[in-house]
Amino acid sequence: MTTATQLLHVDPHQPDPAVIAVAAQTLAAGLLVAFPTETVYGLGANALDAAAVARIFAAKQRPTTDPLIVHLASADQLDRVAIDIPPVVHALAARFWPGPLTLVLRRGPDVPPNVSAGRDTVAVRVPAHPVAHALLTACNLPIAAPSANLFSRPSPTTAQHVLDDLAGRVDIVFDGGPTTIGLESTVIDLTQTPPVLLRPGGADVTALHALLPDLRVPAAPLITDATEVAAAPGSLLKHYAPHTPLFLLRGDDASAMRFIHAAVRALHECGQRTGILIPDEEFAAYADLHAELVGLGPAHDLATIGRYLFARLREVDSLGVDVILVRGVAEADDGGGLGPAIRDRLFRAAEGRVLDVTDPATLQTLLRLTSDA
Ligand code: AMP
Ligand code: MG
Repeated sequence: MTTATQLLHVDPHQPDPAVIAVAAQTLAAGLLVAFPTETVYGLGANALDAAAVARIFAAKQRPTTDPLIVHLASADQLDRVAIDIPPVVHALAARFWPGPLTLVLRRGPDVPPNVSAGRDTVAVRVPAHPVAHALLTACNLPIAAPSANLFSRPSPTTAQHVLDDLAGRVDIVFDGGPTTIGLESTVIDLTQTPPVLLRPGGADVTALHALLPDLRVPAAPLITDATEVAAAPGSLLKHYAPHTPLFLLRGDDASAMRFIHAAVRALHECGQRTGILIPDEEFAAYADLHAELVGLGPAHDLATIGRYLFARLREVDSLGVDVILVRGVAEADDGGGLGPAIRDRLFRAAEGRVLDVTDPATLQTLLRLTSDA
């Protein structure tokens, strides 16, 4: 499928109503519009039109088993997409909407099953970005919108990221500048008792607990250590062969620094080029290495790290390196609430490849995994 992709520039604070109207008509006609939200860019289609929704899955090459989030102009429209809405939704909406919180509710009869990958639930959010809000208001439709990237690529936080992945596959792309939060929304399932946190994201979990005292927060994703990855020979690496393999380093600062120096030298001797994603403060420590350094932002500023995380992942992936090493963010820095979301995205970017830098055997494991790749 190819289509002529139209790029429309908009003022992120005061989008031109005439430009918004063109995109609203495009959505009403069952076509695809990529637009900025405060989290990441979304790939939107009319959520009430099964054929339009199917175009989202096709354009992204997203498995039809992965459900979409439906975006609304305001909480007043919840009845159009959901039924049996529990009373706590009104308190959550008043506190968090518009904003980066997604609620999973019972799906209403007008929402076609493919939006929710066949489930009888529907995920709903009211975005805060003025462009998203203007578009949702102008078309007066619930809009299904996953992140506007190709499946398994980092989420897009600029219009250029959207074009890099989806040019020729989407009808309109808005350019409203870089997104501000940069990480996807927090997802909570209210159809389960007690409610469950399905994805950490831009919303403050402490504030959520105040309204949902029984919220169940599953433990962080199971950390696969290097020996386990090695035990499944190359399977994870092979599956993601088109992308540079990325390894998440766990351990104290001093061990990590020693490990990175040793790993870059050893990889260099094997003819492999390394990219390193590190806090800005650590640049000087690696200046003498044959490695590509990309800064994640100031070490203790999680809002900045979160805002640029996906852009930095795309950047390091574009440098032609063979291996990417990244330091996680410390739990001690979680004050702003984004720590769990950042760790979650890094863990997924690593596809579970986590290396314990305090274990002397880890360097050999890394060399074995990268020579298999
Ligand atoms: P994306 O919009 O690409 O950031 O992904 C949407 C996220 O919301 C995914 O993690 C989905 O699994 C989740 N999600 C969407 N709809 C549902 C649903 N009905 N039930 C559970 N999770 C959902
Ligand atoms: Mg996504």
